[in-house]
Amino acid sequence: MCQSYRKSCLCGENTAEIFFGRNILDEKAVARIYCPLCSGGMEKQDKNRVWDNGWVLELDPDVLQAQALTMEIAPPELSAERVFDEGFVTWVGITPNDSQQRDRERQEIQNLARTDLRAYLKAMKDWGLSREKRFTEEGWRKMKRSS
Ligand SMILES: [Zn+2]
Repeated sequence: MCQSYRKSCLCGENTAEIFFGRNILDEKAVARIYCPLCSGGMEKQDKNRVWDNGWVLELDPDVLQAQALTMEIAPPELSAERVFDEGFVTWVGITPNDSQQRDRERQEIQNLARTDLRAYLKAMKDWGLSREKRFTEEGWRKMKRSS
């Protein structure tokens, strides 16, 4: 069973890939996605929204409310941020489009393996480290939590 779900943002320029931890929520919980191009000027203080580097995940409060007890979150503490941080509705990767980008970058490095194995192994290692560094510098929500 595939738990990942792709949804276009409001302006249609970008797509986020979403993961539903522990199979409690599904795509009905996702109201809207905004990418950095279409999130400008939006209200930041909204408990149905999670902000992550200009991206916004807006969840459906009724769906969250209905599953609050299953998620073991007391209804007064229920918020999109809490649901995201606990992994019930979150990005598949570190960023909304990480998994697509990761596949593309990995493919480029794998082309090296055919011609130069040592360069390939080094490139894979460097790539893993630079990805983490880049995500930390960019300040993605998941990187802040794990540090
Ligand atoms: Zn957009």
